[in-house]
Amino acid sequence: MSVKENDIEMIVKQVLLNIQNVSKSASKPLNLFKSSNPLNSTLGVFDDINDAIEAAIVAQKKVKIMTIEQREAIIKKIREKTIQNAKELARLGVEETGMGRVDHKILKHQLLANKTPGTEDIKTLAWSGDRGLTLVEMGPFGVIGSITPSTNPSETILCNSIGMIAAGNTVVFNAHPSSNKVAIMAVKIVNEASIEAGGPENIVTTVSSPTLESCNILMKHKDIALIAATGGPGVVTAALSSGKRAIGAGAGNPPVVVDETADIPKAAKDIIDGASFDNNLPCIAEKEVVAVKEIVDELMYYMVQNGAYEITSEEATNLTKIVFIENSGRRSLNRDWVGKDAYKILRALGIEVSEDIRCIIFKGAKDHPLIAEELMMPILGVVEVENFDEAVEVAKDLEHGNRHSAHMHSRNLSNLTRLSREIDTAIFVKNAPSYAALGFGGEGYCTFTIASRTGEGLTSAKTFTKSRRCVLADGLSIR
Ligand code: NAD
Repeated sequence: MSVKENDIEMIVKQVLLNIQNVSKSASKPLNLFKSSNPLNSTLGVFDDINDAIEAAIVAQKKVKIMTIEQREAIIKKIREKTIQNAKELARLGVEETGMGRVDHKILKHQLLANKTPGTEDIKTLAWSGDRGLTLVEMGPFGVIGSITPSTNPSETILCNSIGMIAAGNTVVFNAHPSSNKVAIMAVKIVNEASIEAGGPENIVTTVSSPTLESCNILMKHKDIALIAATGGPGVVTAALSSGKRAIGAGAGNPPVVVDETADIPKAAKDIIDGASFDNNLPCIAEKEVVAVKEIVDELMYYMVQNGAYEITSEEATNLTKIVFIENSGRRSLNRDWVGKDAYKILRALGIEVSEDIRCIIFKGAKDHPLIAEELMMPILGVVEVENFDEAVEVAKDLEHGNRHSAHMHSRNLSNLTRLSREIDTAIFVKNAPSYAALGFGGEGYCTFTIASRTGEGLTSAKTFTKSRRCVLADGLSIR
């Protein structure tokens, strides 16, 4: 076949034009916002979980080609909007779930906005030497399925969004049905932030009515690369059985141990502050006290000075009948009392106290149901033990091998070291309220997904990345 000279010239011109266009579009700043239509926007909320997943897949393709600076701009907006909306999120969370305290939930939102790590959390590892340069870079998984609890509903969604987007992922959330409205509000806030910062819509998505079925579809979907499950044992087990990589942030029952060397008035105040925070909803909160005989009465005296109300063992037995439901010999938590104010629980027991009472305490045995079970109520049983040796054994028993959180008040370094090693939890707070573990009155970053069962510990952006090695042999090393 013969090609005419002017045909060749035309082809060359066309190729040159194409090259020019490609280089022009590469140097243009991305404007992903234009591809969204905010007027018809669903802001990430879909009726069908499959549509929510599809939308997050489309958004991930856009996030993948964004610069880190652009991801950071979205995160900055999420932080700003979380702070602007903290009051409303807190109010709606308490109204919808009937759990927790508005003032404390405001603090939780401010904390996550200020202290959840962004893209700076993701580090590259490098080796350079005689044989060249090797990098290990942390890349996104793609689309993450995140299942969130009712106890920190919008907190978990906003905190997960910051970390997961920082790592370059998009997210499909399946919230606890009882926290659906506030979950939707959080998802919309993240999408508004993304659009305003020039990012895509549907950077995070959810379903308008989450169910166990939608959760199962999400966990099994072929395009969901990673599951992050924050909740009780059921959801963590379901996530770990999904056949794909899962981060399991499960239940705890954190004991706080107090030995005879502790600063007792301070220990009492810290314990009541931690245990009454958001009416004991945080999974890390002090759920029972193990105190040595020598100081137990002094400790309880100071707890009362700090807003606790002590009930008798008979009243504790009656309280058990209120906060648990017995059904054919099986005992389960009466959810109506989870996260409720201490004075309301006391009122149900026939005890009228002022609204300033923020925690109920009593002395009991380690197998008392109010002590052995994770209640998530401002009820703190105190187990008296002979000495520190016994305290270690009792604390380990009460933690049930969750490897989640434990706390201790002591000035004895050997005792502190010994319990931290033996109980082997993801979090161990010494001489402070439990919430110091989240960077609230303590050093360190914030998270609401503590991967106790699968071992990642306090999750952050780097937890939501996968490792990729890039090798260039015999070059680029300038040593
Ligand atoms: P939950 O287990 O009832 O619900 C959590 C989420 O899992 C919800 O979205 C729910 O719809 C879903 N779910 C529950 N069972 C499921 C199953 N079998 N299959 C699929 N999905 C299922 O928990 P909750 O009451 O909302 O939250 C409190 C629990 O979560 C406590 O046990 C607390 O310790 C734990 N928690 C842990 C962390 C952590 O970071 N480790 C943080 C918050 C709460």
